[in-house]
Amino acid sequence: MQKYPMYIDGRFVDSASGQWFDSFNPYTGKPWAQVAQGNAEDADRAVKAAHKAFTTGPWPQLTASQRGMLLHRLGDLVARDANKLGELETRDNGKLIAEMQGQLNYVPQWYYYFGGLADKIQGSVIPLDKKGYFNFTRHEPLGVVVAITAWNSPLLLLAWKLAPALAAGCTVVIKPSEFTSVSALEFVKLVEEAGFPPGVVNVVTGFGKDVGPALTGHPLVAKIAFTGSDATGRAINETAAKSFKRVTLELGGKSPNIVFDDAKIDDAVNGAVSGIFAATGQTCIAGSRLLLQESIHDVFLEKLLALAKTARMGDPLSKETQVGPITNMPQYEKVLGYIDIAKKEGAQLMMGGGPATRPECGTGWFVEPTVFSGVNNKMRIAQEEVFGPVLSVIKFKDEEEAVAIANDIRFGLGAGVWTSDIGRAFRMSERIQAGTVWVNTYRAVSYMSPFGGYKDSGIGRESGIDAIHQYLQVKSVWINTGAATGNPFVLR
Ligand code: NAD
Repeated sequence: MQKYPMYIDGRFVDSASGQWFDSFNPYTGKPWAQVAQGNAEDADRAVKAAHKAFTTGPWPQLTASQRGMLLHRLGDLVARDANKLGELETRDNGKLIAEMQGQLNYVPQWYYYFGGLADKIQGSVIPLDKKGYFNFTRHEPLGVVVAITAWNSPLLLLAWKLAPALAAGCTVVIKPSEFTSVSALEFVKLVEEAGFPPGVVNVVTGFGKDVGPALTGHPLVAKIAFTGSDATGRAINETAAKSFKRVTLELGGKSPNIVFDDAKIDDAVNGAVSGIFAATGQTCIAGSRLLLQESIHDVFLEKLLALAKTARMGDPLSKETQVGPITNMPQYEKVLGYIDIAKKEGAQLMMGGGPATRPECGTGWFVEPTVFSGVNNKMRIAQEEVFGPVLSVIKFKDEEEAVAIANDIRFGLGAGVWTSDIGRAFRMSERIQAGTVWVNTYRAVSYMSPFGGYKDSGIGRESGIDAIHQYLQVKSVWINTGAATGNPFVLR
């Protein structure tokens, strides 16, 4: 089995403890690689290397345009190796090769976009109300950023953090998920090849509990950019608050996908199926609550079940496969646990409802695509994130009730609205409490468009121009051009 050491200060190194842990292939349920098992000592080494790179050495000497060019080069290298990186991610997280290679082909855009933005961040000259002073602002990088990612889209979620952080002039310690560390360790070779100085980008691998708090509580860390569960996000936010570290938190969701009776039904059926069964439901923006207007409920459900039942399960490396395995054993058990909860709550099982035992699923961690109808929005299956291929179907009467159900939840990440009425599309997009609303489409993202959560789905936004400001702080500079330095006891 190939061994993957971590990457600190421009060198691949073993962990301080010398221990390794297994990375599993979810399709076989067996280990396929070994990754260095870091601890607090490794976290400390990496943060100190990032801090040294931020304060001394070549990185702070580079102009913003030079940083932008490095990011461009990095984008080119990711594009060159997209197929290889996508395949590694599929081996590690079991998501479809079509999805992972599609993501990797798109990832370079974040490096190009923020590389282009690097030298367009300008302060302003303030036309002060006071004579005899010149006042201007500077946007300065925050410092060392810790980037912590989830397992479902490792290098995509990393690009959302790394590209703006580097464009801003920060240095970074990456902590990938313990379930999918390999692609970050391959990716960092491209960072080196692109010519980034040592210490600017570091990767510490290991279990969240071993290295997470050591990174997020480290006094030399200025900011934490995190994607993961709301429970971990809350713990990180508490730690960060103690030393006033900045945070960006991209957390979970329980997104409503709302279909009105004036929608193009076949399009909406495709949207509902892709909302929950694409990526085997392991996506933060899964449309896991399907809200159907009662007049179309039965016919819609019939069409949805007919389509979902055709989904081909199997090897995620095969281009034919449409639904792959669950990424890891604890998550597999969690998904099955929620299916039991839904059954006990009285939701009506329409398809699936347990482990997939089809021969093409081999020894992997597969769960049958599962649909529950007759779900009440108060049930746990409607309120809690499953992060698997489990859909809850909820009936509504009219627009008012659809809005009430959509918003009656502590999450607010995404929402889908399917309607042919343009006025309704605008009204719904205004009234739904979510960071993203898709109308007559679902699960679209772009490097140009801000992404993030309302309510418990997170703090801050990634992607889009403003994302770079989450890695900068503003300094106001006052120059006395002739004002008298008078009475020292009053505010000037
Ligand atoms: P998780 O919270 O268990 O782990 C995420 C990362 O945090 C991992 O790298 C883990 O090692 C690390 N971690 C764990 N404990 C830590 C601690 N105490 N301190 C610091 N780091 C710690 O989440 P997961 O199971 O890997 O991912 C699934 C979750 O991610 C879902 O809730 C999903 O909705 C969410 N997610 C959100 C987005 C988004 O953009 N909003 C995108 C993808 C996934």
